[in-house]
Amino acid sequence: MFKLEGRVALVTGGSRGIGRACCEALAAQGATVVVNYAKGEDKAREVADAIVKAGGKAEIAGFDVSDTKATEAAIEEIAKRHGRLDVLVANAGIAIDGLLLRLKEEDLARLFDVNVRGAIVCARAATRPMMKAKWGRVIFLSSVVGEMGNVGQTAYAATKAALLGVTKSIAREYASRNITVNAVAPGYIDTDMTSNITDAMKEQLAKLIPLGRTGSAKDVAAACAYLASEEAGYVTGQVLRVNGGMYV
Ligand code: NAD
Repeated sequence: MFKLEGRVALVTGGSRGIGRACCEALAAQGATVVVNYAKGEDKAREVADAIVKAGGKAEIAGFDVSDTKATEAAIEEIAKRHGRLDVLVANAGIAIDGLLLRLKEEDLARLFDVNVRGAIVCARAATRPMMKAKWGRVIFLSSVVGEMGNVGQTAYAATKAALLGVTKSIAREYASRNITVNAVAPGYIDTDMTSNITDAMKEQLAKLIPLGRTGSAKDVAAACAYLASEEAGYVTGQVLRVNGGMYV
């Protein structure tokens, strides 16, 4: 479909959900994929093994994106070892939901630490080799709630809205280096993150989605694979909504 032969791609939080689907989609386009995980090396290894079994190239890299030193060291090492780092999918994220009145200070801090600061630190480190190569693709995972808002998701929505500002700023800053920076804003996607929603709630939700169904991790990964590709070279600073028409 899209060309990624010879490229090296790092996907943070790549061992499950949308991250895993991104790893598989990028590898299927020919990229060597680095599957990042914070905890649970086994699951990350399982993803890499599945990619290799399918004829692709993959390896794993353990670091917590909220640990700046560890993240910077790991990304530097990946770029050094491969002599390049072409694509970053800043996917790692957490959701801690609750009504504003009950929002805890530590949850607010943790959400920003992982979802915003972690993503920015990854981008700062990953764009170094991209700048040298004068080619790069950065993709941030935002969310429909970053644009729409949602009851019980004030802090999470704030982090996902923040990533839109981050996307547009870095896109402007690095355009002259041929690095494109975009956000993908998924709607409701079936993953572990949304597994607390009951089937009945899901049915109600599907009624609010013009395409009549919730999304899959593969739906989101296809958008990421496009934005990472050679063919998306004239697309930067954009928000690609993968939400079944839930927010247009
Ligand atoms: P998920 O919980 O299944 O996966 C998140 C991944 O991020 C996990 O592998 C987790 O281990 C990893 N992660 C969390 N904290 C980390 C850290 N500090 N360092 C490294 N890795 C870390 O969720 P998902 O649904 O696959 O979500 C992926 C991304 O998409 C997230 O950024 C999420 O906010 C966003 N998103 C999801 C949905 C949805 O409906 N599922 C909708 C919109 C946006």
